Amino acid sequence: MLMCNLIGVFCMKKISIVVSVYNEEEVLPKFYNAFEEFKKNISWDYELVFVNDGSVDNSINLLRGFAKKDDKVKVIDFSRNFGHEAAMIAGIDNASGDGIVCMDADLQHPLESVVDIINKFEEGYEVISMVRVSNESAGLIKNITSKAFYKIVNLLSDQAAFEENASDFFAINNKVADVLRDNYREKIRFLRGYVQSVGYNKTTLSYVAAKRAGGKSHYSIKKLFKFSVSTIVSFSDFPLKLGIYAGLLSALAGLAVLVYTLFTYHDAPSGYATIVILICFLFSVMFVIIGIIGEYIAVLFAELKDRPIYIVSKKINFDNENIEK
Ligand code: UDP
Ligand code: MG
Repeated sequence: MLMCNLIGVFCMKKISIVVSVYNEEEVLPKFYNAFEEFKKNISWDYELVFVNDGSVDNSINLLRGFAKKDDKVKVIDFSRNFGHEAAMIAGIDNASGDGIVCMDADLQHPLESVVDIINKFEEGYEVISMVRVSNESAGLIKNITSKAFYKIVNLLSDQAAFEENASDFFAINNKVADVLRDNYREKIRFLRGYVQSVGYNKTTLSYVAAKRAGGKSHYSIKKLFKFSVSTIVSFSDFPLKLGIYAGLLSALAGLAVLVYTLFTYHDAPSGYATIVILICFLFSVMFVIIGIIGEYIAVLFAELKDRPIYIVSKKINFDNENIEK
């Protein structure tokens, strides 16, 4: 790039399209064919970086086939499943484009948006959040819980206001990618939250999430719940302070009962049930708070262990560290 500027030669910019793949044998051929059809519309040079997140089906062989046909198709193969975010992080770490787009393999994120993204980059934007206007495949419950989730995170976090309906479909330029590469290496994380909170010249584009082109979603309710908890923990320390409020509240309640008892001592409230209910209630508050503290300790523990976010077992079509070409 520097060379291009020095000698004043026109250099074509490059877009890196990062696609995370986990057991997607059903949709990968559809994705690749759609991309082959679509790529003529891209005005920049491109690379397609597939990250195989420990698929146990035929995905890796399909990816190997694509990489053989086109050396702009690059493959990073993980040693096991590390999760969607880890796959996107690996893609960003290894992308060499001036702009990087992260998208899913199931064609829910329309390829056509890449053209709009490039236009936004050319207008000077550095972070482009893709906002879902409707999700054809998600049920009513998923849509409502996703909305509620963003409302809660925004309420609890003082660090950033997150776009509701933002997705794991986003684009960043190389400068922003460098910030993520160098500074956002947390083990418990919320990648799309980082993208929205790093600042820079930011814009949004909307898209309609299509139905999955095949196969099925990998996000169960249990996984989504875990994901929501780790997001809140990584962006807010308010839950840690709940103990103080609960303590103050129960002290006030205790005081009120004390005053009431003093003034009505001749017919003071008596009863086994009252005591048992109070003890159960107060203990449940206490245990919930201990649980919340536990969540934060788990995050500290994970960061302290400092295990890798992902482990690469091979790379295909990468120049320097080529293990397989
Ligand atoms: N994915 C991944 N690792 C995982 C789970 C999913 O790389 O552990 C990929 C998956 O192949 C897809 C994307 O992440 O390309 C989004 O997953 P999915 O479509 O299952 O999620 P949904 O769209 O239902 O939220
Ligand atoms: Mg999907």
